[in-house]
Amino acid sequence: MTVEQRLAEVKGRIKAAQKIGSRSVEDVRLVAVSKTFDVEDIRPVINAGQYVFGENRVQESQSKWPVLKQETPDLELHLIGPLQSNKAAEAVALFDVIETVDREKIAAALAQEMARQGRKLRLYVQVNIGLEPQKAGIAPKETAAFLRYCRDELGLEIEGLMCIPPAEDHPGPYFALLRKLAEENGVTKLSMGMSGDFETAIQFGATSVRVGSAIFGAR
Ligand SMILES: *Cc1c(COP(=O)(O)O)cnc(C)c1O
Repeated sequence: MTVEQRLAEVKGRIKAAQKIGSRSVEDVRLVAVSKTFDVEDIRPVINAGQYVFGENRVQESQSKWPVLKQETPDLELHLIGPLQSNKAAEAVALFDVIETVDREKIAAALAQEMARQGRKLRLYVQVNIGLEPQKAGIAPKETAAFLRYCRDELGLEIEGLMCIPPAEDHPGPYFALLRKLAEENGVTKLSMGMSGDFETAIQFGATSVRVGSAIFGAR
């Protein structure tokens, strides 16, 4: 299968999953995760009409996306990997959405950089939904306090919550918990679901899914 065919297949599966949940077809956004793939691999996906992409490293993204954004100004780039505060300036300059706001220091650095650069990015708080020590994110029970800090102390608008459930468990209960946290805290968007579980995530209320290998192939 070509990358164009795989993209079309993923889009079809998203639509089918939305029908099961009886949600409207506009609801779910596809973030095509292009980490480790280079400009030549990404261009055909853009040419097939996919304009929203996710990357997990700032430095890798800087070597790929300035040229692609110049060719196609409407692209929307999401950072879906951990951000160090010394990379906040570069991240604010390059990305449109940061999905991995996961601690006070990063939230503060982003607020400062957005003000300095006059750029307003859309932000998601990453929740460590399975409380896994090796994963980044705010603990579920600290999400409310962290959102208050972002909103009240920093004046940040938080668009959504993002999570990566534990690989070994059924993801459904984790997706349900993320949705509950969002509802309790007045957050409307949910970034959840990857190649292996995006249909489940959609059934649990995902508003965007982050799909890499099902589109680009194995990494
Ligand atoms: C790599 C990655 C994805 C995509 O994973 P696939 O299994 O290739 O679809 C999604 N979210 C995050 C945070 C990632 O790092």
